Amino acid sequence: MNTKFNTKAIRTGYRTTTEQEHSEAIFLTSSFVFDSAEQAANCFSKNEPGNVYSRFTNPTVDAFEKKLAALEGAQACVATSSGMAAIFATIMALLKSGDHIVASRNMFGTSIVLLNTIITKFNIDINFVDLSDLSAWEDSVKNNTKLFLLETPSNPLGEVVDIAMLSKISKANHILLTVDNTILSPALQNPIALGADIVIHSATKYIDGQGRCLAGAVVGNVNIIEQVRGFVRTTGPSLSAFNAWIMLKGLDTLSLRMRAHSDNALKLAFWLEAQDQIEKVYYLGLPSHHDYNLVKSQQSGFGGIVSFEIKGGKKSAFKIINATNILSITANLGDTKSTITHPATTTHGRLTDEERLDAHITDGLIRISVGLEDIKDIITDIKQTVV
Ligand SMILES: *Cc1c(COP(=O)(O)O)cnc(C)c1O
Repeated sequence: MNTKFNTKAIRTGYRTTTEQEHSEAIFLTSSFVFDSAEQAANCFSKNEPGNVYSRFTNPTVDAFEKKLAALEGAQACVATSSGMAAIFATIMALLKSGDHIVASRNMFGTSIVLLNTIITKFNIDINFVDLSDLSAWEDSVKNNTKLFLLETPSNPLGEVVDIAMLSKISKANHILLTVDNTILSPALQNPIALGADIVIHSATKYIDGQGRCLAGAVVGNVNIIEQVRGFVRTTGPSLSAFNAWIMLKGLDTLSLRMRAHSDNALKLAFWLEAQDQIEKVYYLGLPSHHDYNLVKSQQSGFGGIVSFEIKGGKKSAFKIINATNILSITANLGDTKSTITHPATTTHGRLTDEERLDAHITDGLIRISVGLEDIKDIITDIKQTVV
């Protein structure tokens, strides 16, 4: 039966042990035992299915992988210990020395640092382009280009690229189009349906949704995912069963939460846009967004990230951040708790001044990850800081 999103989110990968528990069990075990030496030999040589060791497979991790693959409309998924591990494993598994990557300049700060300081050590070249500039992507393609890497929408500024159009360019050149879908989650955007080959998640954010653990995932077709799984099982950034269980439970309520985050964020963005001290508001759901039509056609919601630029630069930004009472000063996002961040000195602090300016991360920029508190209270909290 071809079920709908919420049914998949709650029912996929669901199975019980002989104890007939209703909530999925957590298999906290590093290894698995065999009935005989013959069975052990068969499982190790993959002549017989069965779990061997939790760095390779674990039933709780497997349930999470199946559920996320179903929600992204993908054949397969491999879970990792963090979002960064997912990005690193994808690149290391699929590329080799001498290959070339075209990447968006408007990505999570650590993703840029990973490319510039670690991936380049392996003789893999990288060109950065503006996320929305389709001709820049096309013009950067070389004979050895293997991967397009991007986030859409970008964080914190909500830039977007037309995934379907970009996938035409990547397919024509035999390049793997890889989309980090952390900011919207599969509840609000399905890059694979739009032509992406690989989707990456920092499940730490909305998939957990409650700020408890780190996790990551890579989804795509079986051939690609088996290569990434091979890298993960050999090098070790596997997801723990405990964290997989948290993520599994997070997926149950993902679409409800994403809708609530989006509703709250839209209300906050409209309010911010009406304030004099605020120079500019960045939110995908504002009709003033320069790519509003693309956003509406590509996404089924706007998400929870609202950023704004305050007059007076860093001094004013710090003043506002310090004066809030309810919002948490932390760089995490995708939590039930609203968080407030100064990107230039935190998430994007390790970029060079030039890289930061290229990404439009100015000193007066504040990012809010809008949580699930009553939005009237969040607005009141921000209001008392700007008056
Ligand atoms: C947080 C984040 C990452 C990194 O994920 P971790 O789980 O912190 O390793 C990657 N991409 C995006 C878009 C993120 O927000």
